[in-house]
Amino acid sequence: MKSSLLWKSGANNVKIGILAVQGAFAEHDAALRTLGAETVLLRNKNDLARFDGLVLPGGESTAQSKLLKDLEMFEPLKDMIESGTPTLATCAGLILLAGRLADDDAVHFGTLPITARRNAYGRQLGSFQRVGNVGRIENFVMTFIRAPYVESADSDDVEILATVDDRVVGVQYRNQLALAFHPEIGDDLRVHEFFLKGIKG
Ligand code: GLN
Repeated sequence: MKSSLLWKSGANNVKIGILAVQGAFAEHDAALRTLGAETVLLRNKNDLARFDGLVLPGGESTAQSKLLKDLEMFEPLKDMIESGTPTLATCAGLILLAGRLADDDAVHFGTLPITARRNAYGRQLGSFQRVGNVGRIENFVMTFIRAPYVESADSDDVEILATVDDRVVGVQYRNQLALAFHPEIGDDLRVHEFFLKGIKG
């Protein structure tokens, strides 16, 4: 466990809502709980009560978007992201946030001014790992699973946090932290810790 667990704080915890309609939400839940955060799995619109931060997990973005609309969760979540709720989005989550998709007419939340390319590494490279820096986090093992990448940052306010082979795979824009890889896989919790520290200030 590389995380320092410094954030663990007991009583004055923040509460993180983790989208749990499809995809890899359980791993985010485990990571955040290990760091001492309170979590709530967001399975339907009644779960969208107050929380301090939001996680959009990997999975299948088209399926997630459709489910969110069917469950009437799409607009409330979009409003929360637009109104500044700190949001950690991974893989399919990054696609949900993207303002534009390079290979697709669909736009889902569209709150993050980037152009993302889905399934960007081709079938033969469906899944792979690279070690690199994520912002100030050094030597992080990045696991990519049929991952997108950020083809362009479409605002000067998009900060590039991580690149692999000259491709952007991690960005921050205001309250939105979006990663093409899966920081919830493995036991290195530094990305989640960074997210929580950002909320707590
Ligand atoms: N390829 C998936 C999509 O387009 C994302 C893959 C992932 O989240 N691991 O939604």
